[in-house]
Amino acid sequence: MAHQITLIPGDGIGPEVAAATVRAVEATGVSIEWEVANAGARSLAETGVLLPDAVIQSLERTRVGLKGPVTTPVGGGHQSINVALRKRLDLYVNFRPVKMLPGLKSRFQDLPIDMIIFRENTEDLYSGIEHEVVTGVVESLKVITRTASTRIARACFEYARRAGRKKVTAVHKANIMKMSDGLFLKCCREVAEEFPEIVYNELIVDNCCMQLVMRPETFDLLVLPNLYGDIVSDLTAGLVGGLGIVPGANLGEKCAVFEAVHGTAPDIVGKGLANPTALMQSAVLMLAHVGERDASQRLQKAIQAVYADGKCLTGDVGGTGSTFQFTEAVIRNL
Ligand code: NAD
Repeated sequence: MAHQITLIPGDGIGPEVAAATVRAVEATGVSIEWEVANAGARSLAETGVLLPDAVIQSLERTRVGLKGPVTTPVGGGHQSINVALRKRLDLYVNFRPVKMLPGLKSRFQDLPIDMIIFRENTEDLYSGIEHEVVTGVVESLKVITRTASTRIARACFEYARRAGRKKVTAVHKANIMKMSDGLFLKCCREVAEEFPEIVYNELIVDNCCMQLVMRPETFDLLVLPNLYGDIVSDLTAGLVGGLGIVPGANLGEKCAVFEAVHGTAPDIVGKGLANPTALMQSAVLMLAHVGERDASQRLQKAIQAVYADGKCLTGDVGGTGSTFQFTEAVIRNL
């Protein structure tokens, strides 16, 4: 039976990397009925709505989505579609594996980097509660709850146990935000006690950023509140070749949406230069999630083979290939 999956191509390079990824997924032989749903700038232009209810309804029905990046106007205007989507579907885990691909030339290419970010996805400064107290004074509320902190910590430790990972690092700024980040840490410590076989440590976020650059190979799993998770994700992407590489999954109890860490890359739209690796690696996670483990592993190996060969890579990772040439190479390796 075909899997039903919602496809949100998105904006900017989204449709380019989504089309490439759909081709690669279909080349695995897995049968999928894609339900295409538009969100973002294109949807705003066509329907006047950034995140139509039809997108949510489709995801509630299929329970699995593959999503390209979407544009959110900076300053003023609309709420971020990503934040809205994650909140409305309660996709509370943002799972981002950061791993070095074979043969990829980066400043850290000799290091065995293999870490996973568990970013809390529903609250913190992304609650979007901002107001002007008096003219020239604006407040933005950082919301941290016991419920959300405990469930992201639990998701991280449970994964560690399942996958045989060794260490969890909780990242915080509780020396300054004693109550909010203090509660986040308290919840992480409580959950850590239930997993005595997993090493647990804590790092203040600024020190964590330095350690990530100095000794990235010593990190295993990281659990972070929303904002630090967002920033640290891009930092760690830079360690393994950039935003063109790192995949992600937004996971909830009922639904999962797979998407790359990167944005719409307005500087390279329509030029055929976008690297589809990040969304393809998100599709690797998606295939495993829907039970297609064999296809998931074959797609991952095909991507790795193209990197090991090095001839069809895109410009962001030092190659001269196009989105199309990279995709063809992945499909050949399947
Ligand atoms: P960005 O990730 O779009 O781009 C940052 C840099 O990385 C650019 O130089 C870009 O060319 C490069 N890059 C990113 N992905 C690439 C790829 N696949 N292949 C090759 N190069 C790639 O970040 P930005 O410029 O800060 O954001 C642009 C827009 O994207 C904003 O509107 C932002 O809100 C949106 N955004 C969306 C998401 C999402 O939908 N999940 C995430 C981040 C940013």
